[in-house]
Amino acid sequence: MSVEPTDEDCIFCRIVAGEIPSRTVHETENVLAFLDANPLAPGHTLVIPKAHHETLADTPEELASEVFSVLYGLTPIVEETIDADASNVAFNNGEAAGQEIPHLHGHVIPRFEDDGGNPIHAIVGSRPDLSDDELDDIAERISANHQT
Ligand code: AMP
Ligand code: ZN
Repeated sequence: MSVEPTDEDCIFCRIVAGEIPSRTVHETENVLAFLDANPLAPGHTLVIPKAHHETLADTPEELASEVFSVLYGLTPIVEETIDADASNVAFNNGEAAGQEIPHLHGHVIPRFEDDGGNPIHAIVGSRPDLSDDELDDIAERISANHQT
């Protein structure tokens, strides 16, 4: 690989550039998938765009689609290889959501019936108590914004 790092200070850009080693499991022209160096489960894999973009909103749609396409193809292969029962596929999308490395990455985390882990519902400390009117209002506002 001879891609120049987009951001010299970014660990994942430096992995893309070959300056930091990674256990690559899949590569396309614009996307790289490699094992997480501090895995939550065997086979924990990260899928990144090679170009530096911090969040989904920062990433061009076509490139984000390529990341999702690799996630789609790789997830069942990771599960099968590790003999997992399931997986969580998720993005920490922004610092407030727990993103520590500001280069977009999707996690594939293999799961097992008896692994003692939690579902994605456990990522927030407490649920908001929203009335039906508030839920209706939120749905209307998101829908309206999506159409603009
Ligand atoms: P996040 O909290 O979503 O930003 O996750 C960052 C992930 O990157 C963590 O799961 C780390 O274990 C992982 N990580 C950090 N440095 C490396 C590296 N050099 N190679 C592979 N994975 C890494
Ligand atoms: Zn980067």
